[in-house]
Amino acid sequence: MKIMPNRLDRGFYMYQKEFEEKAIEVLRSGWYVLGNEVQSFEEEFANYTGGGHCVGLASGLDALWIAFRVLGIGAGDEVIVQGNTYIASVMGITINGATPVFVEPDEYYNIDVSKLEEKITDKTKAILVVHLYGQASNMKPIIEVANKYQLKLVEDCAQSHGACFDGKMTGTFGDIGCFSFYPSKNLGAFGDAGAIVTNSEKIAQDVKIFRNYGSEKRYFNKVVGANSRLDELQAGLLRVRLRHLQELLDERVEICNRYLAEIQNPKIQMPKIREYSTTVWHQFVIRCKERNSLIKYLDDNEVGTIIHYPIPPHLSEAYAYLGMQTGSLPITEQYAQEVLSIPLYNGMDKEEQSHVIKVLNSF
Ligand SMILES: *Cc1c(COP(=O)(O)O)cnc(C)c1O
Repeated sequence: MKIMPNRLDRGFYMYQKEFEEKAIEVLRSGWYVLGNEVQSFEEEFANYTGGGHCVGLASGLDALWIAFRVLGIGAGDEVIVQGNTYIASVMGITINGATPVFVEPDEYYNIDVSKLEEKITDKTKAILVVHLYGQASNMKPIIEVANKYQLKLVEDCAQSHGACFDGKMTGTFGDIGCFSFYPSKNLGAFGDAGAIVTNSEKIAQDVKIFRNYGSEKRYFNKVVGANSRLDELQAGLLRVRLRHLQELLDERVEICNRYLAEIQNPKIQMPKIREYSTTVWHQFVIRCKERNSLIKYLDDNEVGTIIHYPIPPHLSEAYAYLGMQTGSLPITEQYAQEVLSIPLYNGMDKEEQSHVIKVLNSF
């Protein structure tokens, strides 16, 4: 049987009874939007991250663009972001009319801090840090640069729930931490969901108003907002998963430690973990110069893979208007040609892991 890159069904069956009981409880409650489940999830997730306040939203993309909106970043402003990210990070910036300024990644696939300062201009208003593939970015020097130039700091934690830098959880370093609970994320809902985390009560309040048509009190609209509410069903199901998050993350670490120890092939570049950072292994990303033949070989041997991500945002059709050419971000572009995510999911059994290892070693 083919081993898929991800198996969301396994993650459901691990806690089937608890998920089903919670779903029925919410369905029977008669209250479906902005109620007790959302409020409880917000409190529990704020406690989990140590971030002070959490506001539930409809998706990770909403968390990003609403974050920049409430920080007042828009047309004429520049936001620094790494070149190798999921395109949603960049859309969070450009939906507001701001301009992304790309920085090359380091060997850990996070922003290369040594290339950050040279990108700052008098238009730069913020840095968006992406903790890609689940590994915390190099936060100390990033915070130093943000403070030096008085820039806002936003974190894209869509892949990094629970990952820490120097013992502090991602999402709590800057002004706003943006989370996605899309089903395939490490803390996944059963549909779209997202949230922001912030230490600022004012920002939390502004996002709460914004997500509900700009309204704090019914019929009184303070700003032109959006409808981006986390619904009760997703919030309830997320509360169930959050209770088990640590064991889910531990299981991923166990699988990936096996991969790190047992995958040995000179053609394959393995992922590395930075000093002071932890990774929650959202993806296990290898690199290979002969990626196409590797994909085919794995596929012929019943191992499915995916690429995160084959086209970097600056070369996507959506961002043709930025006028960036192939060759403008050589490291980002090289990674896009070489990266490959191998199967990894909660509930992955030992035989599946062994098969993936065996096939990778025989390539
Ligand atoms: C998934 C993801 C997003 C977007 O989240 P959605 O909930 O799908 O809108 C943003 N940034 C990164 C890095 C992601 O992986």
